[in-house]
Amino acid sequence: MSDAFGPEYRRALSDYLVGAGEAALQRAHQLGRKAMAAGLGVLDVAAIHHESLQEVWRRMGSDRDAGGVMKQAGDFLRESLSAFEITHRGYQEANVLLRHALEFAAVVCHELRTPLTSIQASTGLLQEILTPDPAGNVGRLLANVLHGASALNARMNDLVDMAGFQSGSLSIHLERVAPGQLLRRLCEQLEPEARRAGVELGLNLLDDPAWIQADPRRLEQVISNLVHNALKFAADGGRIDIHAREMEGHLVIEVQDYGKGIPAQDQGRIFQPYVRVHPQRQRVPGFGIGLALCRQLVHAHHGRIWVVSEAGKGSAFKFTLPLDGAARLGGTS
Ligand code: ADP
Repeated sequence: MSDAFGPEYRRALSDYLVGAGEAALQRAHQLGRKAMAAGLGVLDVAAIHHESLQEVWRRMGSDRDAGGVMKQAGDFLRESLSAFEITHRGYQEANVLLRHALEFAAVVCHELRTPLTSIQASTGLLQEILTPDPAGNVGRLLANVLHGASALNARMNDLVDMAGFQSGSLSIHLERVAPGQLLRRLCEQLEPEARRAGVELGLNLLDDPAWIQADPRRLEQVISNLVHNALKFAADGGRIDIHAREMEGHLVIEVQDYGKGIPAQDQGRIFQPYVRVHPQRQRVPGFGIGLALCRQLVHAHHGRIWVVSEAGKGSAFKFTLPLDGAARLGGTS
C-alpha cells in the first residue's frame, strides 16, 4: 500500500465525517484520488474508511446515526470507481492477500513436517518393538498418537495444496482409473477410523462403474475429505453411505451422512475457503479449507461439486467426473 497520502486522506475523511462540511469533503476527495493514483488499493481505501469511522465513533460517541456515516464514507468510492471496478479490484486484491497468507501457512507446514514425520516413524517403530495389545493402555495410546499425527499431516497437506492451487504450482495428472476398485480400497482404509467413531461406512455399487479419467491420489483426497467431514458431523451410532453411479456421460460420487446437516442459508458458502458454519464452541476440528480444496480438485478434473442437505437430517455431498469412454470395468480396457 502506498502511504504517501493515506494518513492525510484518513484525517480529511474523519473531519468530513464529524461534520466539517463541504470544504472537508472536497479535500478528502482530492486526497483520496491522489492516493489511488499513487497505488492505494480498494481494500486499502476500505481500511482507511473503517479507521476513519472508528475515529469518528471515538470523537462523537454514539450521537451519530451509523447508517448515515457509512453512506457518506461510501460516497467517495462510488464517485471514484464504477461498481464493477470496485468489485473486480477488491477481488484481485483479496486474492493476493489470500495467496500470501496461504504461502506463509505452507512454509510453516513444511517446517512442521520434519518433526511430525519423526513422531510418526518413531511411534510406528515403538508399535513394532512393543507389539502391545491393541485394546490395552499402551496399544490404545500409541494408536492415538498415530491417529492424531496422521490427522495433523492431512490438514497440513490440505493447506500446502491450497497454497499450490492459489499460486498455480499444483497440477493434477490424469490417467485411466477404475473407480470401483479405487472406492473399495479407500473404504477399506477408512473403515477402521469410522468404526472407532462408532459409524458404519457403506459402499453401494450396483455395478462396477465405467472407467474415468482422474488423478487417483487427488480423487482419494476428495472422497476422504468428504468422509472425514461426514464422520465429524454424523450422529453417534449412525452411518455414512458412499454411492457411485453413471449419469449422462459422468460418474457421480456421493457421500451421504445422516448427521447435523447444514442450514439452507449456509450451503452456498461452505465451498469458500475458511468458511465454517457450525459454532466454534462445538469444537469440531478443522481449518475450513477442506471443501474449498475439494472444489478446486474437482474443477481440475472438469467436474462439479455440490451439496444437498437439511439441518438435523444430514448431508449428501455429490461430485461429477467425466467418464473415460464406453469401456466398462471387466470388459475391454
Ligand atoms: P472444516 O471441516 O475444516 O471446517 P470444510 O471446508 O471441510 O472445513 O467444511 C466447511 C464447513 O462446512 C464445516 O466447518 C462445517 O460447518 C460444514 N460441513 C462440511 N461438511 C459437513 C457435513 N458433512 N455435515 C455438516 N456440516 C458440514
